[in-house]
Amino acid sequence: MDTMSNDSPIRTDPGKRGWVHAALARLEQESARSADTHLLRLDFPGFPGIAFYFKDEASHPTGSLKHRLARSLYLYALCNGRLDEGQTVVDASSGSTAISEAWFARLLGLPFIAVMPACTAPQKIHAVQALGGQCDLVEDPAQVHARAARHAAEGACHLDQFGLAERATDWRGNNNIAESIIGQMCREAQHEPTWIVCGAGTGGTSATIGRYLRYRRLDTRLCVAEPTGSGYVHGWRSRSREAVASQPTVIEGIGRPRVEPGFLFAVVDAVVEVDDAASIAAATQLETLLDSRYGGSSGTNFAACLTLATRMRAAGERGSIVSLLCDRGKRYSDTLFDATWRRDHGLDIAPWQTAIATALERGELVAPD
Ligand SMILES: *Cc1c(COP(=O)(O)O)cnc(C)c1O
Repeated sequence: MDTMSNDSPIRTDPGKRGWVHAALARLEQESARSADTHLLRLDFPGFPGIAFYFKDEASHPTGSLKHRLARSLYLYALCNGRLDEGQTVVDASSGSTAISEAWFARLLGLPFIAVMPACTAPQKIHAVQALGGQCDLVEDPAQVHARAARHAAEGACHLDQFGLAERATDWRGNNNIAESIIGQMCREAQHEPTWIVCGAGTGGTSATIGRYLRYRRLDTRLCVAEPTGSGYVHGWRSRSREAVASQPTVIEGIGRPRVEPGFLFAVVDAVVEVDDAASIAAATQLETLLDSRYGGSSGTNFAACLTLATRMRAAGERGSIVSLLCDRGKRYSDTLFDATWRRDHGLDIAPWQTAIATALERGELVAPD
């Protein structure tokens, strides 16, 4: 067994699966040291009888819901015999996934390469490097997957977040995000959520929640909240895997331009489109409500919650809506939370800020003209 500290090399037992066993033990230790993420509750005067809950995925050690994904991808690689002692680990990611994967690579004493477009913000490149990872920058963003595949052909283990997110997580339980939410709701008055709301990046989170709801025979509906016109929006509506986005987005982690392999349309009951300005306005409202800053996709989720709550109230429905706080807002202080940056990107959030504040009081989210 591996009983040494984190930075010491994992000891191996030649001829056996020594290193793999020790690596799995180290992941178990990390899990045992971690607490579950909070489910925060908010109530608004405009929505009597509807309780709002937010799963704080920013509180993971690496600051986002990608901590869960990275842990699952390493477990999946190890248990499939694809990852062994001293092997380089690679993935194509310019965001939170690279940071979480670099963190786990360091935990396991493995070299890590993040393949990123050369235009990636220096702050993110530095975050991966600070964790001991290496960034392989490619000029053409469309080439990141081919470059990751080349590293894999040379012997690296490709974690492949977009290819494997949907299957790497144990959808029946093992404290996946859905099991955790449903467990945390057990003492609430409206313990079976009316809706669970999340975005789609790899599609892993929505696939896990959608499968788990059926497995547990719950009537809870799943809503995917996405930037207006994303690949997911068009793909879900037409049930086509060839669909592409009709407009770009500044919201990171979600709003993919294409249908990713992990998008599981059949388990999703509704898709709510959210304009970027509304997502950012909702993120600023969350900061006021929770005294903590979360990223743009958390705002997308919150805005979609208010759309669903508006429909519920109009239909005289009571219940609960659960959503996710996906990552910390600190990373976006020079972008989404910077007024000059927003102006340069043609984003005026003031009308949406008013619309959201009004909705919390009056129970109806109305898009500004
Ligand atoms: C990845 C990500 C999402 C979407 O989660 P998936 O499980 O990949 O679909 C949402 N928000 C942020 C900030 C993310 O990094």
